[in-house]
Amino acid sequence: MKYIASCSFGKDSLAQVILAHEHNEPLDYVVYSEVMFDIKNNISGEVPEHRDFIYNVAIPKIEKEFGYKVIVVKSELDFISEFHRKIVNGKNKGLIRGFPIGWKCCINHDCKVPPMKKFLKTLADDYQQHIGIALDEPERLVRLHKDKRKISLLEKYGYTEAMAKDLCAKYGLLSPVYNYTNRNGCWFCPNQRWSELRWLYQHHRDLFDKLVELQKTPNKASKKWNRQFTITQIAKQLDLMNRQLSFDLGAL
Ligand code: SF4
Repeated sequence: MKYIASCSFGKDSLAQVILAHEHNEPLDYVVYSEVMFDIKNNISGEVPEHRDFIYNVAIPKIEKEFGYKVIVVKSELDFISEFHRKIVNGKNKGLIRGFPIGWKCCINHDCKVPPMKKFLKTLADDYQQHIGIALDEPERLVRLHKDKRKISLLEKYGYTEAMAKDLCAKYGLLSPVYNYTNRNGCWFCPNQRWSELRWLYQHHRDLFDKLVELQKTPNKASKKWNRQFTITQIAKQLDLMNRQLSFDLGAL
């Protein structure tokens, strides 16, 4: 039997690695599935600060101090290939997919999950998988309990999301993304909050502009970037917010 922890290096999945360490739980591998925006140009889907944290802080600490092996798995598909994938049937036949749809994200389905499944297959069904779901996420826990091979150490040790965050901070393992948001996701995620979009716009304009460029691609099935707006409309809104902030600060 192998014991593995799926880890995105967000607070919940990292907290369970810490709990495994604290409570001497058996753990053979910490497995991370990295989503790529553009494999050819080596652009990750992680927010740059989070990616730096993963490779320069979290992985070294988990391997050297906790003694767990970290395995990074990646798909051969990326955001760019998904964006340009041609739809072969249904009402959008002949169009390209365009931006992922938040409530049925093809990036999760095609890029994130398959490499993890492929890795699990190498264990020939003889494994237990730790998934970081906190005590205050009852609906997700109900779904988790349906698969006997999956358990949550956060649930086992009575950890809520807030407690998981505190535990990560205590070990110097809290990603810097929690300075401006309370979730961890791809920088191109259509489910992002305004605080995350604003961070991207202000600190990683080169990445934000890649989305603006893609917006110009014709024959997209998903014309809007999220449920409400195109990325160009979002850029205008963020620009207004920035100007307002500068104006407010200038008036102080
Ligand atoms: S964070 Fe967003 S874009 Fe990335 S896989 Fe999840 S839902 Fe998709």
